[in-house]
Amino acid sequence: MTLVVDLPPFVFSKKFYLSLLWWLIFGLLLGCRDTSVGSFEGPTMGTTYSVKWQGDVSESDLRPGFERILQSINDQMSTYLPDSEISRFNEQNSEDWFPISREFLAVVTAANQIFQETTGAFDISVGPAVNLWGFGPTGRVTKAPSDQALRALSVFHQRVPTRESPPALKKVSSGQRIDLSGIAKGFAVDELGRFLEASGVTNYLVEIGGEVRSKGKNDQGLDWRLGVERPDAAGRVVQRIIPLRGMSLATSGDYRNYFEENGKRFSHIIDPRTRKPVNHMVASVSVLHPECMMADGYATAFMVLNLEEGLRVANELKLPVLWLVREGESFREVLSASFEK
Ligand code: ADP
Ligand code: MG
Repeated sequence: MTLVVDLPPFVFSKKFYLSLLWWLIFGLLLGCRDTSVGSFEGPTMGTTYSVKWQGDVSESDLRPGFERILQSINDQMSTYLPDSEISRFNEQNSEDWFPISREFLAVVTAANQIFQETTGAFDISVGPAVNLWGFGPTGRVTKAPSDQALRALSVFHQRVPTRESPPALKKVSSGQRIDLSGIAKGFAVDELGRFLEASGVTNYLVEIGGEVRSKGKNDQGLDWRLGVERPDAAGRVVQRIIPLRGMSLATSGDYRNYFEENGKRFSHIIDPRTRKPVNHMVASVSVLHPECMMADGYATAFMVLNLEEGLRVANELKLPVLWLVREGESFREVLSASFEK
């Protein structure tokens, strides 16, 4: 049966036209929201964070979550906060188990893994040396410490003992101090990325101080691409563009955070074997990894290893790594086998 509605042609009520207009506006707004591109930034961890995304969420949906996550990671892992978990662990003068958060344990476990894989180049027990060279919470120095002072430090060249359940850490010796500054930023980037994913964002780029995690595509539907900068203190010139393809990228270098004494440069990356700032031809190292935490830790480790050691370890671990090596006034690029691929 056909229902015949008898209406005069093209004549509808005013209410009908109003509601049509309302739906049109609503539809347009909805359409814009679907393809909306957002970005914001803020200060954190002595540097800045920033995020770009596309999708059906707004800054006000994301910013409070970002701030909560960053605050919580600082409360766990910042050696600059006297009441953080790490500071209380460091201050504890005993070798008893010290209960910690799951996040702190996850980062120490990753640090232990990188320690093992890089034959101790990445070593979170270098904390006291980092402080003595003026790159920790105790503040800057203008003079290199004496060999005697360096020898007296408690650096242990061992994994930090961990317990899974309930999560806890233990000191190798009561004088031990740990420093997660070479890996915690990457973990924070991962946590922000996981928060974006849980909020339904599938296309994003998020970074803290240049340690980056990405998923999906940019607003032009292309791979997110990132420039690795020329490792000199002078200007920010791009040396090479890297398409991220859903990976994280971390870069470590000796060209930005350092002090000079009598024309000699001392970087914030410490070789745990000598307890001194690294001093070789490698100027910067960039590592690609699905997790920014791992990329961050490895990048610091490859700054400690010399090029030959580093290439061997990177190829063994099948890690995509890019070294920029000083050659006179310019830089030579060296790629691990996986990076070339
Ligand atoms: P940035 O923090 O400048 O991005 P990194 O990720 O390389 O650079 O971290 C450098 C920090 O890591 C140093 O400031 C210090 O706190 C810590 N660190 C230095 N040397 C080592 C090392 N051999 N192993 C682990 N952490 C280190
Ligand atoms: Mg690092």
